[in-house]
Amino acid sequence: MNIALIAHDKKKQDIIEFVKRNEEAFSKHKLYATGTTGKLLMEATKLTINRKKSGPLGGDQEIGSMVANGKLDLIIFFRDPLTAQAHEPDITALLRLCDLYEVPLATNKQSAELFLEHIKLS
Ligand code: PGA
Repeated sequence: MNIALIAHDKKKQDIIEFVKRNEEAFSKHKLYATGTTGKLLMEATKLTINRKKSGPLGGDQEIGSMVANGKLDLIIFFRDPLTAQAHEPDITALLRLCDLYEVPLATNKQSAELFLEHIKLS
């Protein structure tokens, strides 16, 4: 599967822990991430991740373009619901495209856990 990983700043530690804990499962898939999330995940694991631009610099739109072009099967996006984001329009656009193209999108840890159980079985 082609999987994209994104986390807002206050959720970066959470995604690092999540991906580290499931590194073996993730290693079987092709991974993409926004810039900083991808950098931190590669530092914390042995995974190879295709990094896009940082989210606020257009990375969410790059991921959205992949969705629109049928290049992603799953997105794990740990959002911070308590902090305003300068690139909120880009985030909304990405969520909209996931709904438009019916790409599974987990926006919190518990949803991501469920997705991962499915990935491990498939
Ligand atoms: P980042 O982008 O991984 O480059 O921090 C994530 C975001 O804020 O959308």
